Amino acid sequence: YTQAKALVYSKHGEPSDVLKLHTHSISPSIPSSSVLVRTLAASVNPADINTVQGTYGSEQPMSSLIGTSEPSAVPGNEGVFEVVSTGGSSSSLKKGDWVIPAAQQIGTWRTHAVFGANDVLKVEKDSLTPTQVATVSVNPCTAYRILREYGPSAGLKTGLPMRPLELGGGEWFAQNGANSGVGRAAIQFGKLWGLRSINVIRDRDSMEETEALRQELIGLGADVVVPESQFLSREWKDQLAEMTRGGREQVGLGLNCVGGKSATALARSLGEGASLVSYGGMSKQPVALPLGLLIFKDIRFVGFWLSKWNQKDPVGRKHMVDDILNLMRLGHFKDVPVDEIEWKWDTEEAALKEAVQGTLKGFRKGKGVFLF
Ligand code: NDP
Repeated sequence: YTQAKALVYSKHGEPSDVLKLHTHSISPSIPSSSVLVRTLAASVNPADINTVQGTYGSEQPMSSLIGTSEPSAVPGNEGVFEVVSTGGSSSSLKKGDWVIPAAQQIGTWRTHAVFGANDVLKVEKDSLTPTQVATVSVNPCTAYRILREYGPSAGLKTGLPMRPLELGGGEWFAQNGANSGVGRAAIQFGKLWGLRSINVIRDRDSMEETEALRQELIGLGADVVVPESQFLSREWKDQLAEMTRGGREQVGLGLNCVGGKSATALARSLGEGASLVSYGGMSKQPVALPLGLLIFKDIRFVGFWLSKWNQKDPVGRKHMVDDILNLMRLGHFKDVPVDEIEWKWDTEEAALKEAVQGTLKGFRKGKGVFLF
């Protein structure tokens, strides 16, 4: 028998209130269509917190499959696992393979799991770290998909590895939450694909810290990094015009991670017929859309949800993941800063819960990743 631990919740609420560390054992005889895996790394994303809170767009099914006293769910939508054993010889997976979730909301915050072989996707592990593989499937894929679907590259057949666009001069996109996992990925893909980016960050406590973050994003390939204070000021309009040659180069796409005033200002920075794609609402503020932008500039306001895309196009998703992992291998895609949360056998429940709870707090030094 394999001894396993999982974070579980049986009712919605704040993670620190509702999460419990559950210990169980896994029988060696697993169904033929299943695999027993051990977790190498699992990330903690804002959506996971919202799922536990019960405020996310989809709910996890609850069950007593791992022997919890009440029907429960294991949070976590992202991670990388090593195959320990397979239920049947027919499986294309073998011991030692690395897999990531193929199904949504599979529950990654656990030391071991039995998954359906079809619910995981094998990845080539050569030259990659568990953290790189554990963080590939949500943030980088979101940025990749949005830029491909709505950026100047739209219309190219999806599901194929992306080649540089080599656009003369590079077309512009703008985004807020630019230092988020998604934002950092968008900067890097933008650079690789010949786009230019305007990146809005929140002001730090001191100008030095803001400048340090600005430099960090420039290091990733950002063309322009703007603190929110400047972005929301009266002067921004003229400054933007200057950057875009008096508006002759238009900003064709906006990526909204934040909502509220920041989203409105983002919409105002866009050119005729551009799209504002909202994928996150970190400020928890609704988006107010000036009617003039709809009527006179015909700006398109759309939303994006990766889960939907993954369901619609699993083959495209696989190509995308392989493509991004390859960019990581080649050193063309830098790791997101992480806040490592060590999960050893004797790590206490309180320590795990505390690490999870901070996820929605702003000004974090990195994405939470459980390392086993
Ligand atoms: P990260 O945890 O990597 O980054 C969080 C970002 O939000 C940082 O830029 C942070 O800026 C900013 N932020 C935090 N609090 C606030 C606040 N109160 N007001 C404004 N900005 C704030 O996040 P991810 O990249 O993982 O996710 C970002 C968003 O994208 C989330 O809302 C997530 O749910 C969503 N998302 C949506 C997907 C989809 O399919 N629609 C897929 C992936 C992510 P600072 O450093 O200044 O605090």
